[in-house]
Amino acid sequence: MNGEKLPHFVERDADLGGRTTLALPGRAAFYAEIKSVEQLAQLAGKSALRRFVLGAGSNLVLTGDFDGLVLHMAIGGRELIGEDDDAWYVRGGAGEDWHAFVEWTLAKGCWPGLENLALIPGTVGAAPIQNIGAYGLELADRFQSLEACDMLTGRTVRLDRDACRFAYRDSVFKQQGWHLDARLVITRVTFRLPKAWQPLASYADLAAELDQRQLGRPNARQIADAVIAVRRRKLPDPASVPNAGSFFHNPLVEANVGERLAAAHPDLPSYLQADGRVKLAAGWLIERCGWKGRTLGQAGMYEKQALVLVNRGGATGAEVLALARAVQDAVRERFGVALTPEPVFL
Ligand code: NAP
Repeated sequence: MNGEKLPHFVERDADLGGRTTLALPGRAAFYAEIKSVEQLAQLAGKSALRRFVLGAGSNLVLTGDFDGLVLHMAIGGRELIGEDDDAWYVRGGAGEDWHAFVEWTLAKGCWPGLENLALIPGTVGAAPIQNIGAYGLELADRFQSLEACDMLTGRTVRLDRDACRFAYRDSVFKQQGWHLDARLVITRVTFRLPKAWQPLASYADLAAELDQRQLGRPNARQIADAVIAVRRRKLPDPASVPNAGSFFHNPLVEANVGERLAAAHPDLPSYLQADGRVKLAAGWLIERCGWKGRTLGQAGMYEKQALVLVNRGGATGAEVLALARAVQDAVRERFGVALTPEPVFL
């Protein structure tokens, strides 16, 4: 594409760092703000250039400059597209801010169902890739289908729930690496919000917040407000403390490993999964290794939540990688557990 005529909406040599919440330095050789499916179709088939899809930049670690084409998703739109006896169906453009979309479902028609996922940073289009989840609800529980542009052919394809192969913070996009090479670019996502709504308030932090507000039987709006309050208390606002949210996955270990760790550390939070494995709280493991609030170079682990890696000002990608490795080594040495980073590294 370097020697080809570029569509007029493709810029050259664009800053990326300012478009990510961790604010590490980095530039893109080519950059396009994508507001329509037609723009994607115009860029499809140009395979010589590496591509990367950027949403809100809230789950991204820049390790340097990118010599390819960054597609910044800005396809907007949110609408109620249907309703039957059992559910409402709402659709969002991939570039819509996730939290604003959740707020819209609650305010516009009061279609409950996404409230536990309030305030998760990112876009509607990025949400299915890692099957975002929080406080006992995950996107897959409310997902109906998505549309994506096949960047080899320029055609739109539709993926239903089975085709997305959702798992814990995982989907076919991650399994196939489509989120890295932009083979399929998500353009719109449709959610199914069941009319038979039940509050999900079993998580300790959320239950305590609702309790404190004396809400025994909260509605969806009240749950969203409680989730927002809990998250604001624990998680740094990227506008003042640059960060990329949870930096490591909560590890899933085999049952025998979980039993051994629980015997040695009775206060370790662990949760038995349907498949027999045990989920551990990564933040607890990191804190016990002494990394909560510690800094290496200009990168550190956040004081109020050890799972969040923060840029203390002017950090580089190399410093973030060094800190991530130091934390992984400490947790492996002390607990024998491998931590896997959650963000995408570019
Ligand atoms: P937390 O609520 O302190 O939970 C820590 C760990 O314990 C997580 O693995 C969580 O599972 C698990 N856990 C806690 N209570 C549980 C329960 N009643 N039943 C089963 N598992 C339980 O975590 P936090 O760091 O403060 O984050 C709050 C919520 O936001 C969590 O659900 C977390 O996963 C979510 N979150 C999601 C993303 C994302 O989607 N990328 C990013 C940041 C935080 P789960 O992970 O299954 O919830």
